[in-house]
Amino acid sequence: MGNQLLTLCPTDFSNLYEDAGFDGTYEVDEGNYLGTGKFAVVHLCWRRNSAEKRYALKVINTKCGDMASINRVREEINILQCLGLHPGLVSLVDTDETLPGSIRLVLELCEGGELYDRIQQKQYYPEHEAKECCLQLLDAVSYIHGRGIMHRDLKPENILLTSKVDNTSIKISDFGLARISRDYPRRLPRSHSICGSDFYLAPEVIKQEEYGREIDIWAVGVITYVLLSGSLPFFHNVLHKLYRQIVERDLSFPEQAWKNVSKGALDFILRLLQVRAGDRLTADQGLSHPWLRGSTNGSSFNSFENPNAMTRAGSHSNPHYNNNQGSSWGPLSRAPSDVRREPSQPNVPHPLEHAHVINQKAQAPQASSRDNRPSAGSRGPQGHPYDQQYGAPPPSGRPTSARGGPLANQGNYY
Ligand code: ADP
Repeated sequence: MGNQLLTLCPTDFSNLYEDAGFDGTYEVDEGNYLGTGKFAVVHLCWRRNSAEKRYALKVINTKCGDMASINRVREEINILQCLGLHPGLVSLVDTDETLPGSIRLVLELCEGGELYDRIQQKQYYPEHEAKECCLQLLDAVSYIHGRGIMHRDLKPENILLTSKVDNTSIKISDFGLARISRDYPRRLPRSHSICGSDFYLAPEVIKQEEYGREIDIWAVGVITYVLLSGSLPFFHNVLHKLYRQIVERDLSFPEQAWKNVSKGALDFILRLLQVRAGDRLTADQGLSHPWLRGSTNGSSFNSFENPNAMTRAGSHSNPHYNNNQGSSWGPLSRAPSDVRREPSQPNVPHPLEHAHVINQKAQAPQASSRDNRPSAGSRGPQGHPYDQQYGAPPPSGRPTSARGGPLANQGNYY
């Protein structure tokens, strides 16, 4: 079992192994599944000698025998082992490679299912619950980033709830696209590979630039928007138009969905959804934001971006209505697929062969640690206490009330 793994951060599973082997140790509810992914089916399972404790068994199909796919799964396992235990992450309990054509991962069970489904059930999260979710999410992201790892596919489908009744106890799952720096902290994780899920892609990924951990922060910004409104901030059925909305941050907060949301929450979102990666808050800075710290009353936010100016004239009466006419926000839709596109073909939707496969050829060599350091910006202390701590945000990337704003002429990506 585990000894077959390429292990960079070894975790000792030996206390879990029994002479009976994997199938003698675990009983699997083969007839039902908890969920399915691109190449994985997830079943309920338990140890035969202590059936009361339940786990999730992720069976990843490797039948195609493609070594790149197998290595990618091994990398996912390696990353889960490196991460170890954290309350905001689905932890790895055991692994097995003895079954031909598949690799099996025993994972901590999340009984509440996907955050995506919970948002759909509730339509949107009330602010206090959204705040609690974001706090946990960002805490887990901070932990991941602090171990030289970026997740690269944060979205509500990959965030699981631990309970059917509690709306806010969440765990990040699916590290199939995650990337680790083997030389952290000397080098930060960096990549050129275009991967992730369309609605949550950061501008620099779309622009095919080298990117780092800041892409996860962008995704947390999108997820926060989704939690509070039940809608996607960037939405278009035509992929290149969706991408244009993202790189231009063509964003609005329709009155109907946002009128009862505090300015602190909007400020938080805007500070994560900065077009320039270096202008985004880091996970640790985000955790200190007054909205998450609970010290905001909204009115204290006056120094950043005026969200009211972003609400488009004639905003839609129904925030969950998709008019499909170029609106840049839309109903919550399941991310169509994890994306893997060749950098030379940014506009061509690529049918995903395996969500876990990253084109290694597309990977850029890691830049030096000096180059990789996230830009701290040069923000002077002024205004709100938050700005005194982090400085006023830079003028670039300011939102506009309609498309065609300052960033509209920022190069031609298509
Ligand atoms: P893939 O890597 O193929 O995309 P995922 O890891 O996303 O597969 O798992 C597919 C689905 O299985 C998830 O969306 C979720 O619904 C379910 N699932 C995965 N892990 C767990 C878990 N630990 N507990 C409960 N359900 C899970």
